[in-house]
Amino acid sequence: MVKEEISSHIDDIINSLNSEGKKISREEIEDEFTKFMEYGVPVDQAKQTLIKKYGGTAVIPSSSSSTRTLISDLKPNQSSVKVLGHVIAVNPKEINVRGENRTIHYGILGDESGTIPFTAWGDVDLSKGDVVEITNAYTREWQGAVQLNLGDRVNIVKTDKEKLPEEAFEPKEAKIKDLRSGMGRVDVTAKILKLEERETEVNGEKKKVFSGLIADDTGKAQFTAWNDFKLKEGDVLRITGGYVKSWKGIPQLTFDSNATVKKIKKSNIAKEIPENIRMSLHALVEKGGALDVEVEGTVIDIRPGSGVVLRCPECNRVIQSDICTVHGKVKGVADLRVKIVVDDGSGAVDSVLNRELTEKILGKKFDECKKMKNNELGSLIRDKVFAKRIVLKGNALSDSFGTSIIAKDVDFVDVDIGVEAGKIIRELEDLL
Ligand SMILES: [Zn+2]
Repeated sequence: MVKEEISSHIDDIINSLNSEGKKISREEIEDEFTKFMEYGVPVDQAKQTLIKKYGGTAVIPSSSSSTRTLISDLKPNQSSVKVLGHVIAVNPKEINVRGENRTIHYGILGDESGTIPFTAWGDVDLSKGDVVEITNAYTREWQGAVQLNLGDRVNIVKTDKEKLPEEAFEPKEAKIKDLRSGMGRVDVTAKILKLEERETEVNGEKKKVFSGLIADDTGKAQFTAWNDFKLKEGDVLRITGGYVKSWKGIPQLTFDSNATVKKIKKSNIAKEIPENIRMSLHALVEKGGALDVEVEGTVIDIRPGSGVVLRCPECNRVIQSDICTVHGKVKGVADLRVKIVVDDGSGAVDSVLNRELTEKILGKKFDECKKMKNNELGSLIRDKVFAKRIVLKGNALSDSFGTSIIAKDVDFVDVDIGVEAGKIIRELEDLL
């Protein structure tokens, strides 16, 4: 923080102190304030604490809350954020905090620059379509994206629609590969690959929900439609006004009666949908998850828990010493798997190869593997897999441990040293 900025914060603090409060020098306040900053305390919190400590009562307006920030300019870990936007979606969610049930709200807020997911921790009165001026919010990073938090200090004022420019309400065209959690009013043209219908209860009323898979020439995503748009498998649709949520990093397009769905008769999209989308691991990790991806990289690690393992017959969890953490003492069922880390130079992911894929890469059947000694099987896995270049196909998802690929297929890549060397030499020549 620059000197002038600190100085203005110190002015704020001094101006807020009562005359009958403790006598305190500017230097002392500045000292303490600087210490707070070094410890990473948010500016406002530091100011409030010092004002309280030295006998002040006034609540100071935040220095930054007077100017509005555009949603696309928000960065993680900002405090005293002021934004103006409209509520694209809002949903209640029951959570348990230290044994107590609490209702929080999460949703999506949009302005003319973009959209952002938000979480409201307290009691808020927000409805879809509201245009609101929000002050004293703060931001955090969650699953690689900025998230707006409406905490204890937040102030929400409903305001006129006219305060936001027209383009804040206009849908933005997007390709499936670019869908990210928190995007709102997107305009997507895609084909329905899979469709399921189920019934659910919303506020005590039975409602039909339609969900499944959609795809364009850049990727696949899940979708949920809260309205009967008479969708059919194989239809190519232009869906305008949907928003994006994600589950373990896999994007999910959600649309309801506020969206428009138009059937497209002639479209190339239906012809150009690839089976798998090839991605760099950097792009995949940054995105968090995707369906039917194909990646290529080198196996840089084989994780413990590879080889013949025992699973609980009830829940399929891998167990140790015949004890399942959920089902207690059980008779384990043998299975075969390999857990690897794959790196392509731009990023790394974990992957688990199931029995079938492990048999494929080891060139050995499960029964043969079961007969081998643990260390023999371990060496075989190392010899066959470690430092080898492979292509993995499957679904990628993220959790707190990182990104992993649930492999559907795996193949070795024959790296032709001669060709590779030629390529590198040519690239070097281009640089010279
Ligand atoms: Zn179990």
